[in-house]
Amino acid sequence: MEDCHVLLVIFPGQGHINPSLQFAKRLVNLGAKVTLSTGFSAMNHMSRPQIPGLDFAPFSDGYDAGLKPDDLNDFWVSMKTRGSDALAKLITARKEEGRPFTRLIYTTIMYWAGVVARGLHVPATLLWIQPATVLDIYYHYFTEYGDLFRNCSGNQVVEVPGVPCLGVRDFPSFLFSTETNVNYDLDWAIEAMRDQIEEINVEESPKVLVNTFDALEFDALRAIKKVRMVGIGPLIPSAYLDGKDPSDTAFGGDLRQNSNDYVEWLDSQPKNSVVYLAFGSYADVPNTILEEIAQGLVNSKLPFLWVLRETYKGEKPEEKLRCKEELEGQGKIVRWCAQVEVLQHPSIGCFLTHCGWNSTLESIASGVPLVACPLWNDQFSNAKLIQDVWKMGVRVSGNEEGVVTADEYKRCIECVMGGGEKGEELRKNAKKWKDLAKAAVKEDGSSYLNLKAYMDEMLTLKSIN
Ligand code: UDP
Repeated sequence: MEDCHVLLVIFPGQGHINPSLQFAKRLVNLGAKVTLSTGFSAMNHMSRPQIPGLDFAPFSDGYDAGLKPDDLNDFWVSMKTRGSDALAKLITARKEEGRPFTRLIYTTIMYWAGVVARGLHVPATLLWIQPATVLDIYYHYFTEYGDLFRNCSGNQVVEVPGVPCLGVRDFPSFLFSTETNVNYDLDWAIEAMRDQIEEINVEESPKVLVNTFDALEFDALRAIKKVRMVGIGPLIPSAYLDGKDPSDTAFGGDLRQNSNDYVEWLDSQPKNSVVYLAFGSYADVPNTILEEIAQGLVNSKLPFLWVLRETYKGEKPEEKLRCKEELEGQGKIVRWCAQVEVLQHPSIGCFLTHCGWNSTLESIASGVPLVACPLWNDQFSNAKLIQDVWKMGVRVSGNEEGVVTADEYKRCIECVMGGGEKGEELRKNAKKWKDLAKAAVKEDGSSYLNLKAYMDEMLTLKSIN
């Protein structure tokens, strides 16, 4: 299958890189050659796994030293311009060398890479790295149902095909959610999403690969008549899913400090006893929120492992917490950890998460129930799915002033960790989704077969050309 050469173009963020690396490995295992391309702003911080059939072609996005949330508006323009130029040169050069790309695949919002590919007659496919439900929401918003979303307020809900009833608090925050917990300038993001949906619609019968699986989002994957969405996930290392390649454990995508000293501590904790807390790779969590979480944890008296990254200003968030000393005796704070390994550790009883899609899928694949604390972006919709559709977690709610209090965090943690009926139900459902996730990636599973069919199609198209 030497002839199948994929150029995989990834947005330079951890949430895109982790699933994309797994995706690249799966394509290589099915016989493709893959060239992975992203900005130096990310490539400089990631390890590059040495896998025959996989190589790397980074480009300068103008922010090679790294990217902060405040840069995002300018970064987006810079990356589009420089990236389009770099990709066009790369595609042309490879063609002239006699080893042309037969397909370009790009992650969510990198639609401009699809435009470049089209201009150079290379077929392109979107790899959507959020839930299918969220693609449905954006698609409906930018096509037929925009007014329904715009006119929804108070306790009203929006009903659109393939999506559970959504209140305003369940909308992706780019669609003017009032609940967003971070104050980044996001004008670029909603425009990028609109352009992404337009790019999907340019094709007559577009196909989109989605990091999800049939059993998890059956209706959502089939909700848009024009678009064929194909579930090929969860894109998580093999060791934690099908077990076929036990050496495939780390994402290999991140060179952050990862001291590992928490593993011994986890080993010393009883089964299902530890609360794991993490808010992804990117957003700084406001201190007011951290205070309430910390106090809720202290009041719960439960052991915990908490990932608290340094802020972009270089501060250690726990140093400002009022209950810092009480926390120290009760659990462990780390700057970064191997999250999927942690989630698979028998001591972990629940995951208090920002509901980033990778974190959510990793928890699903590990059978760990969730406390959902969304911050921005698709995380609000993911929280809705976790609580009301998959019923494997509870979502924190704000009081009359919109504040999620320490008592609320404590209530939710205790509900998920507790031996009561609710806790049992959540754990039972979490186990059910874990089994279904594993089944999806087996050789007779839906995600494996879907990806294989996609590969076969790529080859057929090649031979027709
Ligand atoms: N992650 C990790 N260690 C940590 C925190 C996060 O490996 O201490 C990984 C996590 O496993 C996931 C990614 O970083 O794959 C975060 O992606 P997600 O979509 O959940 O959130 P984002 O970073 O995009 O907000």
